[in-house]
Amino acid sequence: MKLEDLVNKGILDLSPYKPGKPIEDLERELGITNAIKLASNENPLGPSPLAIDAVKKILNDTHRYPDGNALRLKECLSNKFKVNINCITIGNGSNDLIEFIARSFLSDKDSAIYSEHAFAVYPLVVQALGAEGIEVPARDYGHDLEAMKKAVQDNTKLVFIANPNNPTGSFLSPKEIESFLDDLDRNIIVLLDQAYFDYSSYNNEDVGFKLLDKYPNLIISRSFSKAYGLAGFRIGYSVSSHEIANFLNRVRQPFNANSLALLAAEVALLDDKHLKKSLEINFDQKIYLMKGLNDLGYDCIPSEGNFISFNCNDNSQQLFEGLLNEGVIVRALGVYKMPNHLRVTIGLPQENEIFLEKLSKLT
Ligand SMILES: *Cc1c(COP(=O)(O)O)cnc(C)c1O
Repeated sequence: MKLEDLVNKGILDLSPYKPGKPIEDLERELGITNAIKLASNENPLGPSPLAIDAVKKILNDTHRYPDGNALRLKECLSNKFKVNINCITIGNGSNDLIEFIARSFLSDKDSAIYSEHAFAVYPLVVQALGAEGIEVPARDYGHDLEAMKKAVQDNTKLVFIANPNNPTGSFLSPKEIESFLDDLDRNIIVLLDQAYFDYSSYNNEDVGFKLLDKYPNLIISRSFSKAYGLAGFRIGYSVSSHEIANFLNRVRQPFNANSLALLAAEVALLDDKHLKKSLEINFDQKIYLMKGLNDLGYDCIPSEGNFISFNCNDNSQQLFEGLLNEGVIVRALGVYKMPNHLRVTIGLPQENEIFLEKLSKLT
């Protein structure tokens, strides 16, 4: 029997998620040591130094299993955000949560809704389960919530909303989100993916966990990979009703989050100074980069995240390769059906300056 006949049907048509090019790969290829990676929306300042100090102290204890309930991290989250500990679920990155939320609610008879140009992991997890993915055309590169509402079918169980969205940076106000939730059947689960919440709430009002009291079908996920600078540790969490959290915890692998990541997240959560500095740099540098890109003639999609997608018309592949050759890694958006756009992560001032300088040479 052919392997293709054995594998789950949904997996046949999947292509693997393509991450940003690792910095070591490019440095090896070009024989350089100073490549700049602005491709995966990581915090350019790095992790909280306090988190790293704490992690170093427990390296000798890593023969022990982590706390499978992640009680200490949940307590820290519960104290900081005033949410009940029973409503929190911990993931190995928030991608882990996206996957076990889909696994908890979707079978091959069901459908899930997401927006065009939304985070690539949603269609991946839906298809892998053999469920139907309904992609709703975007409006101005953002979620068209009216159209998403209309796209609901009898078998729709789950709606994904990334806010801000990656890779477009588009943002929905709390009013728009509430109005969508008001009209939606309470038997449909909504995953509000707030991986970039810290950036979006820096100078906007954004949806907080309070909204969960009003909508029992809502799940909010957040990540330590972006503003908290812990992408390599793989740690994220969701907050939902106690009932939903109970189900998610049945699907979750018993030790999905490792002990170093759990501790790093606890400490990083309390390091307000590092977070504040990260957000300030992002805010200032976003203005600098937007202006630089505009001055070079590139249209930028307004972004509430730590990245900017800009239109290169039919020159994007050439610019992408050209930047790589100059030691700068950005992200091409072909997989997001935005073949003319490149996405650049907002880096440190000197990184952004070099990026603009190299781009200007290629323009
Ligand atoms: C980066 C990102 C995530 C977070 O991924 P982790 O698994 O927490 O590293 C989730 N959603 C979106 C939209 C993202 O861009």
